[in-house]
Amino acid sequence: MSSPGRLRPLPLGVCGALLATLPAAAQEIVLPDESQVVAIEAGRLIDGRSGDVQEDVTILVRGARIEAVGAGIDVPGDATVLDLSDHTVMPGFMDMHTHITSDPSGGDSDGSLRQWPGYGAVVGAKNARKTLLAGFTTIRNVGAYGFEDIGLRDAINEGLVPGPRIFSAAHGLGITGGHCDTNGYRPGLLDEPGVGEGKANDAAGFRDAVNYQIKYGADVIKFCATGGVLSAGTAVGVQQLTEEDMRALVETAHFAQRPVAAHAHGNAGIKAAVRSGVDSIEHGSEIDDETVALMVEHGTYHVPTMMAFEAVVEGARNGFLTPHSAAKALEIAPRFEASIRRSIAGGVKIAFGTDAGVFPHGENAGEFALLVRAGMTPMNAILSATREAATLMRRESDLGAVAPGFLADIVAVRGDPLERIELLESIDFVMKDGVVYKLDGREAIGGAERLAS
Ligand SMILES: [Zn+2]
Repeated sequence: MSSPGRLRPLPLGVCGALLATLPAAAQEIVLPDESQVVAIEAGRLIDGRSGDVQEDVTILVRGARIEAVGAGIDVPGDATVLDLSDHTVMPGFMDMHTHITSDPSGGDSDGSLRQWPGYGAVVGAKNARKTLLAGFTTIRNVGAYGFEDIGLRDAINEGLVPGPRIFSAAHGLGITGGHCDTNGYRPGLLDEPGVGEGKANDAAGFRDAVNYQIKYGADVIKFCATGGVLSAGTAVGVQQLTEEDMRALVETAHFAQRPVAAHAHGNAGIKAAVRSGVDSIEHGSEIDDETVALMVEHGTYHVPTMMAFEAVVEGARNGFLTPHSAAKALEIAPRFEASIRRSIAGGVKIAFGTDAGVFPHGENAGEFALLVRAGMTPMNAILSATREAATLMRRESDLGAVAPGFLADIVAVRGDPLERIELLESIDFVMKDGVVYKLDGREAIGGAERLAS
C-alpha cells in the first residue's frame, strides 16, 4: 500500500528545486551541465537565421546552450574539440508535421485497433531515435491516440530515450465522422469518441476539446478543417467545420498561447481557417491565387508535407493504400505540386513539415529536395526547417539558429548542401541540447565527454 501522503501535491515553488535534485538513476542519456564545454570547429556555417554562409568559425557550447559563435574565439583548455572543418554546420532541423507514435498503415486502421495501451509510445521511441539521427532535433507531433505522444515527449526530455524535442498536439480535433475521426467500423464496436479524444460538433464542444488537450499537456492544437486522403468516408477538400467553430477553437487555443495547425486541402476550408486566425495550414493541395493572397495578408504559414503527397500517390499505384484512400490520392496527384509551387511563388511563409508516419520516420530530410523542386532556393528550404519553423512555434529566441544563447541543437553534413540539397539526407553529426548523438555518421549516444575518452 502506498503511504497516504504520497500523492499530495508538492507546495508550489518547491517542485522545480526537488525535481532538480532527483537522482538520475532512470536516465539513459546524461544531460550536460555548465562544466561541460564543447568547441566545434566548423568549416562552413549556415546559422539558420541570417541566410548567410560563414567560413571557418568556432561554435562554443557550454552545457545545453551555445555560448559563442565566431572566428578567433578563445577555446577553454578543458573543452572537447570537435573537428568539423570539412563539414557544413547548421542548426538542428525542425519538422512541423509528424505522427511519431505510428508507422505507415496506408489508411487501414485495423492494426491500430489491435494495439494495447502504451504500444504507440514504444513505436514512438523507436521512431524518435531514427528522427533524431536523421538531423531532426525538434518535431511537432500533430495527432496521436491516448496521449502517447505526451508520455514520449516527457520521457525524451528526462533523458530516458533518445529523440527530438517534441511539441505535441495530443488528439487531433474534428467533427464526428471527419478526417480526424476513426471511421468505417460498425456502430458500437468502438467507444464513441468525445471531447477528450478531440471530437466535437459545435463551438462550445471545440472550446472544451482544446482545453482538454491543453490540460493534459498539448503544446499545439491540431484540427481537421477539411477531409483528407487517409480517412474513410471523407472527400479530400471539403470543409468540415463552420468558420464560427474554427474561430472558437482558435480563440481558445490562443488564450492559452498555443499555436493552431489546420489540416486543410480545399480552398473554402483553408480560407475559413486562415480568416479564423490559424497559425499554419497543413498540406494545402488545392491552393489558388486568391487563397495565396489571403494567406500572405494574414501571415499564415503553409506546411506543405510534399513527402506525404509523394508517398500516398506511390502507395495508390503500388497497392499499399486501401481502395478508398487510393482513389483520393490519385484525385489530388495531378494538383498538389502546382498548389505548393503557387504558394511558394506567391510569397506564403513556408515552414518545413513532412507528415512522417505516412512514410517511414527518419526519411524526413527528403522534403528539402522536394521543396527545391517546387521552387525554393536551397537556402530558403533550409531556413524553412530552422528560423521559420521556430517562429511558427514562437520559439525563435532559442531554437532554429546557431547563435549565442540558443539551445545547442546542431547538425552537420560533409560538403555543401547549397550545391547539392540531397546531402541533407546523409547527416553526419547531430547534437541536441549539447549532447552528441551522432559523430562521423555513427550513433554516439552518451554525450561528448564519453566521445573524448
Ligand atoms: Zn498528418
